[in-house]
Amino acid sequence: YNNIITSPRKEGELDGPKEVHIILLDNNRSQMLSDPHYYRALSCIRCGTCLNHCPVYDKIGGHAYLSTYPGPIGEVISPQIFGLNKFSPMLDLCSLCGRCSEVCPVQIPLAELIRDLRSERVGQGRKSVVGTDVTTQNPAEIKAMAQFASLATNPSKWRFVLSLAGVFAPLGKVFAPFVPLLKTWVKYREFPQISGGLHKKVSQMQGVIYE
Ligand code: SF4
Repeated sequence: YNNIITSPRKEGELDGPKEVHIILLDNNRSQMLSDPHYYRALSCIRCGTCLNHCPVYDKIGGHAYLSTYPGPIGEVISPQIFGLNKFSPMLDLCSLCGRCSEVCPVQIPLAELIRDLRSERVGQGRKSVVGTDVTTQNPAEIKAMAQFASLATNPSKWRFVLSLAGVFAPLGKVFAPFVPLLKTWVKYREFPQISGGLHKKVSQMQGVIYE
């Protein structure tokens, strides 16, 4: 922000403050400024364009961002000011559609910075953000993503698992409401239909039998 303020009232002047106190709050901004990457967020002029173009902010409004900095710029600023360990969940609000980066008049690469903060959160960044410690990393999530990466980079394993998933998905639909990690999720959503693989073949066979 830029503020133009007057000095204390001079001798003989009728108007103006008797005293002026200036309190500068750093709030980790010096740290942001020294970061070769994240310093760009400090160019923000608070025009609000990124908020108005963000499809997520459009639906959920400003209070969901839990600080005075809502929208895409809030997702970049708040974790750095208040700590990544406290504000990292807000990074999940972003769909990384990139509209904010396109419309920002001072060309802050917001989507890129949000993605980098996500890397910091799981310990793959430079650990340059305040509050980046082990408490932000979920060991189960790290293990699950490592397993997923090993499957997704091996085509034969991937096809095999997908064919099994196609067979067991209908069972998942039945049992998901009783599985602790899944039950809240399926309370509000349909269990996904997985097509292809054995499931498709079984359906085709069923089709032939019914015909
Ligand atoms: S569009 Fe850019 S300058 Fe405007 S509020 Fe968002 S980040 Fe700040």
